[in-house]
Amino acid sequence: MRDSFGREVDYLRLSVTEGCNLSCIYCRDLQLGTVPFYRSMPSPGRCAEIVEAAASLGVRKVRITGGEPCTRADLPEIVGGIAAVPGIEEVCLTTNGTLIAPMASELRAAGLARVNVSLDTLDPERYRSITRGGSLDDVLAGLEALKEAGFEGTKLNCVLMPGINDDELEDFERFASDQDVEMRFIELMPIGPAADLYFGTVPFSGKTARTEPSQKRGKPRRRNRPQLQVIAPLSEPFCATCNRIRVTADGFAKPCLHSAEEIDLNGMHGKDLEDALRRAILAKPAGHTLASGSSGSLRDMSRIGG
Ligand code: SAM
Repeated sequence: MRDSFGREVDYLRLSVTEGCNLSCIYCRDLQLGTVPFYRSMPSPGRCAEIVEAAASLGVRKVRITGGEPCTRADLPEIVGGIAAVPGIEEVCLTTNGTLIAPMASELRAAGLARVNVSLDTLDPERYRSITRGGSLDDVLAGLEALKEAGFEGTKLNCVLMPGINDDELEDFERFASDQDVEMRFIELMPIGPAADLYFGTVPFSGKTARTEPSQKRGKPRRRNRPQLQVIAPLSEPFCATCNRIRVTADGFAKPCLHSAEEIDLNGMHGKDLEDALRRAILAKPAGHTLASGSSGSLRDMSRIGG
């Protein structure tokens, strides 16, 4: 269906857990502590029910996100249930890739079409610092498993953080070419702890990055040139073509990533659920408020679903 600004909304981002095995410095508010994995986890049946209501309003594509969706052993069941909803044409996943290896084939068999893997550095030490304890090797194993399982169109998402990883652009370009994946550089949004990162108040204990990325740019090596994309929600907002709606793991529809407005879907079924989602679509604002320096969202990204 169209929202009140005439935008066709056909894309749902569904968070299936707030739990994550990593705690990225810009994503996860540590004051939350480690959210227990058993909290805020919609059952596979509830995920399918929400998607069914969304599909009846014209949603055709679903991206499963979190938290970290692969912390859920029943993720293949969730994917299968969503893929079977009439009208749904594509089910995709956003993951940090560290836990996907053992379930990659099962996810593909369940109907998962494509995977975006979040990876902000190719340096193991930096990876540990940015993710507060993660292992780069686990992501590499995940990427390998995705290839073996036959996934195509895998994308790497790298959030660029000035002074932290912005000296790795060329390394990423080479890596994406070697891995034969599309590379997307994403502008850091001032939301949750990322807002503090802008002002240098989030401690980062990894190697110091060079502040001038150009220092590292020698003659570009051109092999298989990978597909490179830059997503810049602040510098080049794409609100005018926003086609998405989000549902959080604890069951709230978010009309906009950066607004505080949330519509409670808990306890709703059938027509009521559909009506609540319709209200959420109609509540989509014309654009976000990031230009004013901060997000209006009351949650950090790990509790919304990026
Ligand atoms: N755990 C999964 C993952 O790592 O992809 C899914 C959830 S995570 C919240 C989804 C995406 O949001 C990640 O690519 C992450 O880098 C991105 N993200 C989180 N905080 C962000 C911010 N402040 N600005 C831009 N992207 C952000």
